[in-house]
Amino acid sequence: MSNATQLLQSIPVDELTGALSVPIYQTSTFVQEAPGVNKGYDYSRTNNPTRATLEKIIAELENGKIGAAFASGLAAIDAVVKLLKYGDEIIAVDDIYGGAYRLFTQVYEQYGIVIKFVDASKPENIFNAISEKTKLIWIETPTNPTLKIADISAIAKIARANGCLLCVDNTFASPALQQPITLGADIVVHSATKYLGGHSDVIAGIVVTKDESIGARIKFFQNACGAVLAPLDSWLVIRGIETLFLRVKQHCINAQIVAEYLENHPLVDKVFYPGLKSHPNHNIAKQQQKNFGGVVSFSLKNDCLKLAEQFVSNTKIFKLAESLGGVKSLISHPANMTHKSIPAEKRIAAGVSDSLIRLSIGIEEADDLINDLENAFEYVQSIIWKTENLYHDYATIKVE
Ligand SMILES: *Cc1c(COP(=O)(O)O)cnc(C)c1O
Repeated sequence: MSNATQLLQSIPVDELTGALSVPIYQTSTFVQEAPGVNKGYDYSRTNNPTRATLEKIIAELENGKIGAAFASGLAAIDAVVKLLKYGDEIIAVDDIYGGAYRLFTQVYEQYGIVIKFVDASKPENIFNAISEKTKLIWIETPTNPTLKIADISAIAKIARANGCLLCVDNTFASPALQQPITLGADIVVHSATKYLGGHSDVIAGIVVTKDESIGARIKFFQNACGAVLAPLDSWLVIRGIETLFLRVKQHCINAQIVAEYLENHPLVDKVFYPGLKSHPNHNIAKQQQKNFGGVVSFSLKNDCLKLAEQFVSNTKIFKLAESLGGVKSLISHPANMTHKSIPAEKRIAAGVSDSLIRLSIGIEEADDLINDLENAFEYVQSIIWKTENLYHDYATIKVE
């Protein structure tokens, strides 16, 4: 059975009524037959049938055993970090999602958790950073926004040999392209806000593991700390997941076309997309992913911040917004948006140059996306022509 068929088969028909769509159990509590005697549900923070159905679907999709749905991706990440104790160490990928960076450094460091950041595209960097206190290795692959790839099975072997857990944030690839648990990871997390939901209409997070005792701990934190996903939001994620394979297929087709177009554009300096042969981790991406995903980043020749600003403000189909993974194409300028709070030198050292532009490629027709980008390039070119000595003094750029 193909993956898409298997996924749709895994979504249960309601036993009570035959409803083909999963019912939304919008209830806080469940009537008990006698004290402590119930039908498996007593209170919706602890367990809710709609959420439980989502958790079962995503656990299967990620080739794990236990799934837990949270109120956001960050709440899911938070539940995993709670597996650690005072004095334990995390080794995390250096271009980690900004919200995870803030959680690790501004919340968990004050509770005595030690975090080290390394470039995870070279597994030996992780190996070299491990100490006897290291309990958790945290990677994202592909990363945001420069799309670096980490070799999940190589890192899983290092984790296992050193008694650490490996957690992979699989938000960018989605289980349609990559199953970290199959490659040896212990835990997978998602911002289901992105590809799983797929329609930019819900904030949600997921944890999946195949290890029963880790799963029981995560479920314990879910109930004890309470950042659960609501029944209606659980339903929205289920509804999004139903078309995951179809959407991701189109995201990938479009992204490859756009990446190749950008690579040949005279105003573009670098293109970051793992599906390009020029990408430094292209071979690993090819090995561990079914395709290369829907996010493409690029920088402009001469790396001018103001021109990038003009570019992202002058597309029509690509809407200027944070986030990714939805059916509608989005454009963002990390130096001015997601990465604005990072000091410029640190940001540039992490590969996020002044003119870096990130595209979340939607499921529109590729030709229309290219026309939209071409119009923005023409506009930027017209500014360059109008401005004398532009590349000697960026401050002289005038926009009418
Ligand atoms: C968006 C995102 C998160 C955070 O998820 P929220 O649902 O916004 O809380 C975590 N990791 C990655 C890679 C993301 O893109």
